[in-house]
Amino acid sequence: MRIDYEAIIQGGGMVGLALALTLARAGLPVAVLEAQAPRRWRREDPVDQRVSALSVASERYLDRLGAWDAIRRARACPFHAIHAWDSEGGGSIDFDAHRYGEPHLAHIVENRLTQTTLWQQLSERDNARLIVPGSVQSWTAEAECLRVRLADGSECTTRLLVGADGARSPLRERAGIGHSVRPYGQHGVVGTVWPEHHHGGIARQRFLPTGPLALLPLSDGSCSIVWSCPEAQAAELLELPEARFRERLTQASESVLGPINACGPRAAFPLRRSHARRYIDRRLALVGDAAHTIHPLAGQGVNLGFMDAATLAEEMLAAHERGRDPGGPAVLHRYQRRRLGANHLMQTGMDAFHWLFANDLPPLAALRSAGLNLTDRFTPAKSLFMAHAMGLSGELPELARPHLR
Ligand SMILES: Cc1cc2nc3c(=O)[nH]c(=O)nc-3n(C[C@H](O)[C@H](O)[C@H](O)COP(=O)(O)OP(=O)(O)OC[C@H]3O[C@@H](n4cnc5c(N)ncnc54)[C@H](O)[C@@H]3O)c2cc1C
Repeated sequence: MRIDYEAIIQGGGMVGLALALTLARAGLPVAVLEAQAPRRWRREDPVDQRVSALSVASERYLDRLGAWDAIRRARACPFHAIHAWDSEGGGSIDFDAHRYGEPHLAHIVENRLTQTTLWQQLSERDNARLIVPGSVQSWTAEAECLRVRLADGSECTTRLLVGADGARSPLRERAGIGHSVRPYGQHGVVGTVWPEHHHGGIARQRFLPTGPLALLPLSDGSCSIVWSCPEAQAAELLELPEARFRERLTQASESVLGPINACGPRAAFPLRRSHARRYIDRRLALVGDAAHTIHPLAGQGVNLGFMDAATLAEEMLAAHERGRDPGGPAVLHRYQRRRLGANHLMQTGMDAFHWLFANDLPPLAALRSAGLNLTDRFTPAKSLFMAHAMGLSGELPELARPHLR
């Protein structure tokens, strides 16, 4: 029987597109169904509100896809150090990649830049189809594939249907895959700000009892903020006149970069942890936020999603090369085994961190400050944190390992 696509991916966000491009570059026919085409990224536009800290592992993966150079040259800001401190007990910790002989820990990149770069590259391939607006209406299983009906009434066949359609994943819902959701009771207020002093290539994070405040370095010396705080406070911060907001931010950041002299538009996003009970079903897999979401305090969400994409692609391509079914149960179980536990571990670690730091009980404040100071002096623990920040802990997919050019 004729199979139209080896994979149909619902969701053309960063993760779905990375997966599609990996498969298409290996010669597999793929389709991406996306509700809305991304707005074109242009250098003359101000930096977007939504940015991500892309780890070294994600950088390597995007490099293997031939997308990293374009992203880096367009507008990506590397940072070599992290300075984190506690508002209560005076504890602090510093990580510096240079001390370990590494040039940087990660890059801050606008989500839309990553997305449109992958989109552009995919649109240049003959074996990839971007269907916009497009979405799955239903599917039925046949012996060697799924028959998929799209929202426009057309039908096609595929070996694997992938849900890369974000935290509310309609595909996950339609497949009846349950997921646990735990709101953190916080919103992340984001925007670009211009402090008095240059950030010097350092990402900064202050732990406040209401939630962490991150100042992430951008290439023109400004910073992108993620200010996690209770919903009511987030609403208030969005409403404040600009001058008052700058004052509040200067205060909340303890003037670590001097006064905040200007700020761009602000927006807020609800923060919640969610995890699908399983990542797979018959000829179906979930990747990225459709499978899991995590508190942004360690900037890991899309990095985990990229590792999902790289791992699933790796398993599919290995099967394809051996003449086996790339959407079959063996591939899917291996994918789930490699990613579900790793993502769960990261979520649990972040939750513990979040609980410890978003708590103003005096014994806890003393404990975490002592912990920060101790970790700062204890090289093996610091190396472990560095490896996490760079996305280099745990079992990496081949596409995220160093490669010889
Ligand atoms: C405040 C904040 C800060 C963050 N900072 C970081 C960070 O520093 N580092 C990091 O790694 N992560 C960070 N994250 C997380 C990161 O933004 C997400 O993990 C990432 O955007 C998820 O990408 P995705 O492609 O899985 O999903 P999405 O970006 O949600 O993409 C899903 C796509 O699916 C499409 N779609 C949805 N439904 C349908 C449908 N029915 N049919 C067709 N298409 C559909 C949508 O239009 C969208 O394009 C942060 C998150 C927040 C909220």
